[in-house]
Amino acid sequence: MEKESNYRFETKSIHAGYDAKNHSDSLTPPIYQTSTFTFSSVQQGANRFAGVEDGYIYSRLSNPTVTVLEERMAQLEEGEAALAFGSGMAAVSAVLIGLTKANDHILCSKGLYGCTFGLLQMLQEKYSIQHSFSHLSTADEIRANIRDNTTCIYIETPINPTMKIIDLELVAKIAKEKDIKVVVDNTFLTPYLQKPLQIGCDLLVHSATKYIGGHGDVIAGIVVGDADTISYLKKTTKKDIGGVISPFDAWLLLRGLKTLGVRMDRHCENAEKIVEKLRNHAKVKSVYYPGNTTHSDYHIVKKQMKKSGGLISFEVTGSYDDAVKFADHLKLIKIAVSLGDAETLIQHPASMTHAVVPEETRKEMGISNELLRLSVGLEAWEDIWGDLEQALDQL
Ligand SMILES: *Cc1c(COP(=O)(O)O)cnc(C)c1O
Repeated sequence: MEKESNYRFETKSIHAGYDAKNHSDSLTPPIYQTSTFTFSSVQQGANRFAGVEDGYIYSRLSNPTVTVLEERMAQLEEGEAALAFGSGMAAVSAVLIGLTKANDHILCSKGLYGCTFGLLQMLQEKYSIQHSFSHLSTADEIRANIRDNTTCIYIETPINPTMKIIDLELVAKIAKEKDIKVVVDNTFLTPYLQKPLQIGCDLLVHSATKYIGGHGDVIAGIVVGDADTISYLKKTTKKDIGGVISPFDAWLLLRGLKTLGVRMDRHCENAEKIVEKLRNHAKVKSVYYPGNTTHSDYHIVKKQMKKSGGLISFEVTGSYDDAVKFADHLKLIKIAVSLGDAETLIQHPASMTHAVVPEETRKEMGISNELLRLSVGLEAWEDIWGDLEQALDQL
């Protein structure tokens, strides 16, 4: 058999990390719905605890279904190892708590997922772990924002919901000079469209709830990185904080992964069609999509992303009320936060995900009252556009 790591992405997404011979010849990975594992003797138990014999102990530490998922994700991201968690936030918190101690500093991209922002505030208030934000757009800007106590740079790109892009290669190069770990939230693009570890970043996190699962039926998270860091997180923040994934949810993610490549291709194709249509509609003021050749960061998009993904932000003409009216007129497209599902979803950041942010700060972040974020699904693009058009025409 060809060495697993030589297979291409689509093949690995179906086969990597699984050998039916070790699982009663079952075609698909069995769901090991068990909390604990039995030892044939006290000595065997002692050996497993001591790490001198391989084998499972207890499902918070590891579980065979979860192991398949972790190995598959590590191969897809081209990292050495991975850990699965019960939510994206369990993954983010396991990493940020694992990489820092009191009085360290985390440098962050401007514009983060809301709960990541909340976690950083909590770490600062309760444990004196500091953080600050930067556009990280030039070498000088990155260097100027690194402090003596910076131990970690935490990045989201594209940034939600403004779709600004950060040059991962540039950040990784500067961080390496100073021995600072770079962590990337790769939720929006998945390993099919962007591989931060190949570019020189150290760790990445996923909300697997989104494109990895892909069917809107599971909450989960993944961390991928080098074997030493992953082993450290496994023995500390995963084991002792315990935000683990259930075997069934791991199985759902394995099922989702099999179609990740084909789904992402279709999400991207649909999004490109919708962007084109939106840009030519009189009731649309602006469209933010990384694949726009007019996008200010287009040269970075070309360099680090295979395609531009399935998320579009756009502003309708008029006011806050017009944005609300437009979304309420949609029929096929569902109003919901989350993204990456087969169903096309829309949300209005000013009234939902960013409602707690004061209007002035929101404007600075590029989030106007008329901005909407669309997660383009897998329906026929003509039907998605038909729904958007009839709602726009009512403005
Ligand atoms: C949804 C999301 C998270 C949080 O993940 P959960 O699975 O909801 O805990 C983190 N980062 C990004 C970019 C997300 O979209």
